[in-house]
Amino acid sequence: ETEILAQIKEIISSKSVELIHLQFVDIEGILKSVTVTVEQFDDVVAGKQMFDGSSVKGFSPINKSDLYLQPDLTTFAVLPWSVEEGYSEARFLCSAVNPDGTLFEGDTRNVLKKTVERAADKGYTISVGPELEFFLFKTDADGNPTRQLDDNAGYFEPSPKDFGERVRLEIYRALKAMGFTIEASHHEVAEGQHEINFKYADALGAADLSTTYKWVVKTIAQKFGLHATFMPKPVFGINGSGMHVNMSFFKDGENAFYNEADELQLSDEAYSFIGGLVESAKNIVAVTNPLVNSYKRLVPGYEAPCYIAWSASNRSALIRIPAKKGMATRVELRCPDPSANPYLTFAIIASAGLDGIEKGLKAPASINEDIFHMTEERREELGIENLPGSLEKAIAEFQNGEIGRKTLGEHVYGEYVSAKKAEWDSYRTAVHSWEIDNYQSKF
Ligand code: GLU
Ligand code: MG
Ligand code: MG
Repeated sequence: ETEILAQIKEIISSKSVELIHLQFVDIEGILKSVTVTVEQFDDVVAGKQMFDGSSVKGFSPINKSDLYLQPDLTTFAVLPWSVEEGYSEARFLCSAVNPDGTLFEGDTRNVLKKTVERAADKGYTISVGPELEFFLFKTDADGNPTRQLDDNAGYFEPSPKDFGERVRLEIYRALKAMGFTIEASHHEVAEGQHEINFKYADALGAADLSTTYKWVVKTIAQKFGLHATFMPKPVFGINGSGMHVNMSFFKDGENAFYNEADELQLSDEAYSFIGGLVESAKNIVAVTNPLVNSYKRLVPGYEAPCYIAWSASNRSALIRIPAKKGMATRVELRCPDPSANPYLTFAIIASAGLDGIEKGLKAPASINEDIFHMTEERREELGIENLPGSLEKAIAEFQNGEIGRKTLGEHVYGEYVSAKKAEWDSYRTAVHSWEIDNYQSKF
């Protein structure tokens, strides 16, 4: 603690840090920030920065609104785009704390900490490698997003067709300067769609990285006059954006999902983890796929899953086992999308897997055929169920299961369900352009 503090102070002086942004997320994972001057540093590190919790979505009621921010020292980073001679800005990611010093239960970062503890009680460290895809749209003269995609390149297409190459380079440089280990970057399948991959980390670290990644991608894109969106299905008829979550559990420094002797090199724990995910899949998508729009991505034909099945390789399956084994053995859940709150998402996935391990569940038979092209009868024969097809159904399944309340805790669970119900209701009662197009002149 004192060592890392000394390092931070050294950077503050060598980079002439003048302002520090204290960042945290609301219930949807949306970034919030309050800026303090470097003179406040000692007080800020001591957790003395207060804020109004009643103005943050999903946080506290108006009568108990005073909360404090506790910066996580490991998240300190100088903002590379702010650095100039004699001036720079830095940031911390923070957890919300009650006036009595206990962690505030309405902060989703604290929710993930609880699941990390639950895993630790069983001797596991949770390791997470998320893959967040995004689209780049052109902006208008006022800087607002238009509906025009930045390019029409496709999968792995280089320049001159890939107009995003330069933007991705600058995003990569910014992320690297902020401590990310970047592994790969490419143009994705859909026009205007991109992906930059960073190295896996422990669950909390990976959620912090995901939060930072989304912020940096949007910030750098804006400098190029572009709008980056993590909306799951921004354009009908082409691929949407996923946030595949690769997860493994480590025990005593070894990958607990790896067993050399097994046909797929998976351990019993890995099979139980898969069993747990299959069992809870329906009940967790309200978290992993939180928007009305999320369910427009989960349709057949676009590399996004819509049926509950697992496979060693099949990209139409919900759960896939990537080919890399040994220490890299992991389970990939393909339904989450990047609009999800990463803290809640990693917590509920790990929680479903831990349930599977605690109950000693077995994974069902793996499905190696292309599920998108199966008949409904064949799927029924194989016992393959559908994922919920709408946010409304997902909320109902979320409320049917116990995992939501158990993992999110009473406060976040209650706030989440009421926010999502209100969102669905607002959508349900609105009149959409599809209805105008199909009905107005006909009837
Ligand atoms: N964009 C696809 C999705 O919606 C994923 C493509 C891939 O496999 O990377 O999940
Ligand atoms: Mg991808
Ligand atoms: Mg993937």
